[in-house]
Amino acid sequence: MKVNVRTSLPDTLYHGTTKEFIQEFKKSRSLLDSRFWKPNKDFGWGFYLTNDYKQARNWSAENSNFDDNACVLQIKVNMVIFKQLEQDISQHIFLGPSYEWIEYILKHRINKSPGLQNDPCSTENPHADIVSGPMARGLVNKNCGLFAFEYRKAKEKDHPAEVDDVLSRLYKILMTGKNGNTLNASYLGNQIVICNPDINADLLILEGYWEMAPEGGWTYVELR
Ligand SMILES: [Zn+2]
Repeated sequence: MKVNVRTSLPDTLYHGTTKEFIQEFKKSRSLLDSRFWKPNKDFGWGFYLTNDYKQARNWSAENSNFDDNACVLQIKVNMVIFKQLEQDISQHIFLGPSYEWIEYILKHRINKSPGLQNDPCSTENPHADIVSGPMARGLVNKNCGLFAFEYRKAKEKDHPAEVDDVLSRLYKILMTGKNGNTLNASYLGNQIVICNPDINADLLILEGYWEMAPEGGWTYVELR
């Protein structure tokens, strides 16, 4: 299959985490340490990044209960390495929200087994090395479990109309704001996920990190 698409990664990416992981990241030669990866996330098992610093900051603050444990890694992409890898890595890019995007997320969210060998994508179309696209913002709070259950039932019955019905209802919920307005796709935020732990680890360089100060606000700690 010939694919005539070229993509470039942003120069700087961010990863929201909490302070207890900083030592691990500093110690580890690679940011792509798959021991920390979890399978049941939007785009599957992988290292989650974003080009949106504020989004990483908000994610980290929410996941540390807004205490001063919140922390955001600032990561430089080594473009020389990326260009070397470009020919050999596969990418799956969702340019915007769609039923296909929702189905992909549901499939991966219900998978509890780590590792590429356990990924729900079929062997004909293996999970890409890098997957990027919109976040399913707030999906966890929007009955994701129930939709995943209904989706799995419809698939088991091999009932395409029922699958479509589940996807269209979830799409509507995800794309509707508090006031009943249709959300702009850019509201969802963006994620870039490295899903192959064997990608050359030198692709990502940990430049420094932002930490939430006890008195509030964020300070930057440079590492190189
Ligand atoms: Zn997959």
